[in-house]
Amino acid sequence: MKLLSVVVPCYNEQDVLPLFYNKIVEIADKMKISVNFEIVFIDDGSLDKTLLIIKSLSEKDERIKYISFSRNFGKEAAIYAGLKKAKGEFVAIIDADLQDPPKLLLDMYNGIVNEDYDCIATQRVTRQGEPHIRSFFTRCFYSLINKISKTEIVNGARDYRLMTRQVVNSILSLREYNRFSKGIFSWIGFKTKWIPYENVERAAGKTKWSFWTLLLYSFDGIVAFSTAPLAIASIIGMILFFISIVLICIIIAKTLIFGDPVSGYPSTVCIIMFIGGIQLFCIGILGQYLSKTYLESKSRPVYIIKEEK
Ligand code: UDP
Ligand code: MG
Repeated sequence: MKLLSVVVPCYNEQDVLPLFYNKIVEIADKMKISVNFEIVFIDDGSLDKTLLIIKSLSEKDERIKYISFSRNFGKEAAIYAGLKKAKGEFVAIIDADLQDPPKLLLDMYNGIVNEDYDCIATQRVTRQGEPHIRSFFTRCFYSLINKISKTEIVNGARDYRLMTRQVVNSILSLREYNRFSKGIFSWIGFKTKWIPYENVERAAGKTKWSFWTLLLYSFDGIVAFSTAPLAIASIIGMILFFISIVLICIIIAKTLIFGDPVSGYPSTVCIIMFIGGIQLFCIGILGQYLSKTYLESKSRPVYIIKEEK
């Protein structure tokens, strides 16, 4: 019988883990005539009792494997570690907080086995229960990144998905340090079916994302999947160069014709500040790419394992 691995990144999820476990076992039992389950928990350096709960679950249920990181390396690192650890023919990624309904696994599995898809992904169609300002910025981010990146980043796409071994191996072949899964999933290609579903609230515990961490994450995504900002910096530079040539010609002509005395101190200051601002902005863009290149060139591991089973 084939094996289905479920990869579960967990960071401070002590409140929700027992609930999650019950739900996933329910599904595993439902599907046991067609596929065996393996559950890979990744404890992403939790500070609460997450690891203890995972360990006690793994003692009574041999389907459970786990990895515990030496500190918090972030969800992207946890997903990467989980995909590496998973042995299944089919691999699913699912959040521990039950925002990704485990019962969809059944439909996903049928989609892969019967409809010949390589990957079944989920997309939430509503952003209910989320602050309006956050939804607004999220929409802006998706429309921006899709304009400037060749890789399509699907709006509302979750990390919740079921993939074949071939897809997982392709993801693992991308060894970059700066991992942006939403881009990687799309970059590797393969036939993907999208299942839409309504947003559900977390079953327990708190979200790990604040507005700022999301904003920084969106910058990471842009730098990882587009070089357009670099081009934009050069274009701004070129436009300003041409404007200044025209202005110089006008000033020379004016001085020759009218013998204009030196004037316009305030306008000079404004122009200097304007140009200075744009220069810093463009250097900042360069710096973003340079810093990512710097981190890649160190080739540090994406995560450090403290314990595993
Ligand atoms: N998570 C993680 N490491 C982190 C942050 C989050 O492994 O540094 C896990 C978390 O335990 C959860 C999933 O990633 O299973 C999604 O996190 P969360 O629910 O906080 O995000 P949201 O659903 O609000 O986007
Ligand atoms: Mg969540």
